[in-house]
Amino acid sequence: MFHGHESLANSTRDEWDIKWETDTIYYHFESDCEDILGFDNELKAFRLAALAWTLECNLNIRQKRRNTADAEIKIRWSDSIHDELFKKRPNVLAYAYYPSPGREIAGDITFNDSHLWSLDGANVPAHYADPNHYDVDSPVMMRTFDIQHTTTHELGHALGLKHSNNACPDCVMYLMYNGNRNLRANDRERIQKFYEKASTSEKIKKMLIGRIKGGVT
Ligand SMILES: [Zn+2]
Repeated sequence: MFHGHESLANSTRDEWDIKWETDTIYYHFESDCEDILGFDNELKAFRLAALAWTLECNLNIRQKRRNTADAEIKIRWSDSIHDELFKKRPNVLAYAYYPSPGREIAGDITFNDSHLWSLDGANVPAHYADPNHYDVDSPVMMRTFDIQHTTTHELGHALGLKHSNNACPDCVMYLMYNGNRNLRANDRERIQKFYEKASTSEKIKKMLIGRIKGGVT
C-alpha cells in the first residue's frame, strides 16, 4: 500500500526545501476515523507519533485548543468518494502536505477512511468490518492498517521529510506501509539534520521509545 503526498515542486535535495520556522507547531483534528470509536484513540495515536519525532529534534507539536483554524497541521479523514486524490488513487492510505509557512494547506494530513484502520494493525474478522456481507461466524479475515504508524509517516512529511530510499524498508518514512511505529536510525538522522537535534537524555529516550512501541492501549 502506498502513502501518497503532493509534490509541490521539483526538488533535487534529499528533503523538502522548506521547514517550519517556529519552535512550536500546532495540530487540530477536523474529523476522525470511522472505524475507531470517538476521537480519543486517534488523538492518543497522534500524540505518540508526534513524540517519536520530537524526542529527536528541537520541535514542539501541540494541540491547538482555540483558534483552531490557525493550526499548521489539520488532520481529517475522508473516503474515496469525497477526496479527489483518493478518488483517482484508491490504494493511497493517506497523504500530507510539506511545510510552507503561511500556506493554508501546508502540513495538513488526510487519511483514507475507505481503508480499514485499527490501533494494532492486526487482521480482524470480516463480520466486524462488513456485517452486511459476512456472517458473525465467517472465517474470512480482513487486513487493517495501524493508525499510529501511518500517522508517524504522514507527520514526517508534514515536517518536511521525503520518503527514505530503498535501502531502508524498515524506516517509518519508507514509501510502502510497514507498520513500524519507532523511528529507525535513518529516520532519526534525517529529522535531526533537518531540525536541530534534541538533547533528551538516553535514559528518558529509551523509556519513551518503549511507550511509543507499545502504542495506544
Ligand atoms: Zn509517504
